[in-house]
Amino acid sequence: MPLTKEQVLKQYYGYDKFRPLQADIIDWVLYGQDAMVLMPTGGGKSLCFQIPALMMQGLTLVISPLIALMHDQVQALKANGIPAEYLNSSLSGQQQSAIERQVRAGELKLLYISPEKLFTQGYLDWIKSLNISLFAIDESHCVSTWGHDFRPEYTQLHVLKEAFPNVPMIALTATADRVTRKDILSQLGIPEARTFISSFDRPNLSLSVLPGRNRIKIIQNFIADHPRQSGIIYCLSRKNTETVAEALQKAGIKASYYHAGMPAAERARVQDAFIRDDVQVIVATIAFGMGIDKSNVRWVIHYSMPSNVESFYQEIGRAGRDGVKSDTLLFYTYQDVLLRKDMIATSELPEEMKEVQNAKLDRMKQYAEAEICRRRILLSYFNEEVTKDCGNCDVCKNPPMRFDATLYAQKALSAIARTNEKVAMGMLIDILRGSNNKRIIDLWSWQRTQNRRMGRLFTTNAQFGRDGYCL
Ligand code: ADP
Ligand code: ZN
Repeated sequence: MPLTKEQVLKQYYGYDKFRPLQADIIDWVLYGQDAMVLMPTGGGKSLCFQIPALMMQGLTLVISPLIALMHDQVQALKANGIPAEYLNSSLSGQQQSAIERQVRAGELKLLYISPEKLFTQGYLDWIKSLNISLFAIDESHCVSTWGHDFRPEYTQLHVLKEAFPNVPMIALTATADRVTRKDILSQLGIPEARTFISSFDRPNLSLSVLPGRNRIKIIQNFIADHPRQSGIIYCLSRKNTETVAEALQKAGIKASYYHAGMPAAERARVQDAFIRDDVQVIVATIAFGMGIDKSNVRWVIHYSMPSNVESFYQEIGRAGRDGVKSDTLLFYTYQDVLLRKDMIATSELPEEMKEVQNAKLDRMKQYAEAEICRRRILLSYFNEEVTKDCGNCDVCKNPPMRFDATLYAQKALSAIARTNEKVAMGMLIDILRGSNNKRIIDLWSWQRTQNRRMGRLFTTNAQFGRDGYCL
């Protein structure tokens, strides 16, 4: 008697029940149909193709873009007693031949392969000679130029469906808005595939944003408020990760840095130490976290703003996978927006992709500058309608106070005009406050003698009513 999907879940993974949608997706795929699966990171996408793979005759081919991710998934499968291997450029010729032999002997249930490998000479023909039960396209947003992580090799994947019209295909992603989703399906040649979308809401994650001043001090206090709790700090540059980690170490915090410029062995050591809770804080570039299955990460801080909402959501999604309350904090400065814009402008991307990236950056900025419930913004980005504020973001907990600032704005504009648009913001503030700053006094002393109002000019309302420069 073949095992039921519930028995497979119990026997190989040790879980008692499916999460919402998992069972429906598995049934649909077993029924031989194409599917698209949208679930947030940590939602449990892998089971949606791994369980059918175990229940079907033949081999499931998993297309996966990242070597690290592939490696981790295959290790986890093997640890659960599931025969799986991967093929990518990191293997020696000998290792590859051994795996190819296993495939031909029908010993494997899952084979992970990078798209680069798939399209190297001869591989596709070899695949065509195999008994394939299912294609799983992991991180399938890489197929679309609308996605945030487009990879040109992914665009050739339509050949799979052409070569195997009767083999079901399942595309998975954590990150696709409506346009991207449609594009993925048409690029893969499965426009009619049924789309399964699980809720992206992670109510256990608190959301907050702070201005990017005194970041180190704030982080130290934050960590002091989260004693012995594991957390990740994402930085933009490798250098940043090192300086931030060092500053935290000096403050007595068990922190390590992690980035792609480090030797592989060192990276593995840092990652293991974090997983074992020997290191409390990892300060990392986005290279960290892919495929890491640590369920008790209690907080994620973004030292700089990510370039799009998809990445941001994926990164904060590494906190609280166990469903326990966890915190997220984003530091936001307009400087980061400018930096990102500059990175896009100077990149080698084609013009239309630069436009997409800029639009995505704007959405990220909207989140950071939001004055309404931040979770609503996030969920609406993933096309989820929300009718209530979440109560677990900084805006909900501390709604912005509103007041009529017309007069202040008029004063500021007037000051700008009267100083011939020549002074920097700090000085302007001093002027508006009527400060006795020496430079102001020196610069405008001629005017004071001419007209003693200068020091007060921008601070008294009565004069403003009469002020010709106001608007
Ligand atoms: P994703 O690929 O969507 O990011 P994974 O497939 O890696 O997520 O699953 C995230 C975690 O949830 C893993 O530890 C996985 O074992 C666990 N998980 C998945 N499905 C279930 C389930 N039905 N019950 C309990 N845990 C599950
Ligand atoms: Zn909220």
